[in-house]
Amino acid sequence: MNILVINCGSSSLKYQLINSDSEEVLAKGLCERIGIEGSAITHQPKDGEKITAQVEMKNHTEAVKYVIEKLTDERVGVVKSLSEIGAVGHRIVHGGEKFANSVVINDAVLEAIEECNDLAPLHNPANLIGINSCKAIMPNVPMVAVFDTAFHQTMPRKAYLYGLPYEYYENHKVRRYGFHGTSHDFVSKRAAEILGKDRKELKMIVCHLGNGASITAVKNGESIDTSMGLTPLEGLIMGTRSGDLDPAIISFLCEKEHKTATEMIDICNKKSGVLGLSKGLSSDFRDLGQAAEEGNELAKAALETYSYRVAKYIGAYVAAMNGVDVIAFTAGVGENNGSVRADILGYLGYLGIETDQEKNGIRGEEVIISKPGSRVTAMVVPTNEELAIARETVRLIK
Ligand code: AMP
Repeated sequence: MNILVINCGSSSLKYQLINSDSEEVLAKGLCERIGIEGSAITHQPKDGEKITAQVEMKNHTEAVKYVIEKLTDERVGVVKSLSEIGAVGHRIVHGGEKFANSVVINDAVLEAIEECNDLAPLHNPANLIGINSCKAIMPNVPMVAVFDTAFHQTMPRKAYLYGLPYEYYENHKVRRYGFHGTSHDFVSKRAAEILGKDRKELKMIVCHLGNGASITAVKNGESIDTSMGLTPLEGLIMGTRSGDLDPAIISFLCEKEHKTATEMIDICNKKSGVLGLSKGLSSDFRDLGQAAEEGNELAKAALETYSYRVAKYIGAYVAAMNGVDVIAFTAGVGENNGSVRADILGYLGYLGIETDQEKNGIRGEEVIISKPGSRVTAMVVPTNEELAIARETVRLIK
C-alpha cells in the first residue's frame, strides 16, 4: 500500500509517498510560501529529476491539490491515480495528555487535537489545516495522526512535573511533554534491533541532535524522561534555541533590553543556541566546525558549550535509569558530525566508553562507534520520521 506522509507547517507542506511493503520512498517534495507571494512546489520522484514549479497556492488545500497532481502526473508522477494512495499519515506536533499513541483521525480526534492548540500555537493549527485540506481533496482516504509528544506519555509524574504551584498543572496543563517522540521511538527500536537485543531489556539514551535537539532516557522500551518540556525550547542548546535557562533571565533581560516577554522568548527560540553564542556566525554545525578549525574562539565556545550540555544530560539520565547500556546518536548533527560526537563521548570515560575513532569518522550510517568490549555501546542510528509515520499509519488502518 502507498502511504502519503504529510508534515504541515504554517506556510509549508512537506510530503513523502512511501510504499509500505518495500518501505521505498516513491516521491517526496515540499510546498513553500503557501498563502504568500512566490509560492512553489519542489517534487522529487524516486528515479527522476527534482523539479521546482512556481505555482500560486493560496492555501493548504490548493497545495494538497498540487501534491496529488504531481504524484499522478504523466511525466513526474509515480502513481496512476489517487486510488493508489491507501492512506495519509499526518505528523502532529502536540497531543497533550490526550494522545499516548497514534490514532485514526475522525471528528472526535480533530476536536481533541484542536484542544491542544494552546500548547503549540504555532504548530497544531497548521497541522489541523493539513488534515482538513487532505480531507477536502481525498474524503474517502483513511488518515492517521502521529504525535511528536505521544512516545513521552509514559514518563512518570516525577519526570514531567515542574517545581511550580500544582494548580498550574491542574488548570493549565503546564508540565513536561517532550517532542521528537517519533524519532526517539524509531531510533531506540532500531538500535536494539541492530544489537540483536530486546528493547524491553535495555537502558538507552537517544540523542536527537539536529537543528532542534533533544535527548531521551528510554528504559525497557519506554520514555522515562526527556529534555524538551512544555515547548521545544527546554533542554539542550540547539541551532537557534537556548535550551535550559534560569527563568529569571527573561524578566531581567526584558528590563535591560526594553523587550516584552514574548519578544524575549522569540529571541530564545530563533536567535540563541549556537547561532547566538557564535554572535550570529551560523546555526549550522558545518560552518561552526570550519570556523573553529580556523581559530574562531566564539565558534569553539559555541561547540564546547553545546557538547558539555549534552554530556550533562547523559549523566543525568544515567542517574535516572541507574545505568545505561546504549547511547545512540541521530539527526543531522548526531548522524554526520563525528567531531561533536567525539567531544560528547570524551566526557563519558567513567561509563567505560572508548570511542573507535575510525568508525566515528563514518557519516550518516548505522554504525557502532564504541570499541568492542566497551561497557556501554555508543552508536549512530539515522532517524527516519516519515517511515515511522508510514508504519504507524499502516498498523492502525489494517
Ligand atoms: P536536522 O535538523 O536533523 O536536519 O539537522 C541539521 C543540522 O545537521 C545542521 O546543523 C547541519 O550542520 C548538521 N549537518 C547536516 N549534515 C551534516 C554533515 N554532513 N556534517 C556535519 N553536520 C551536518
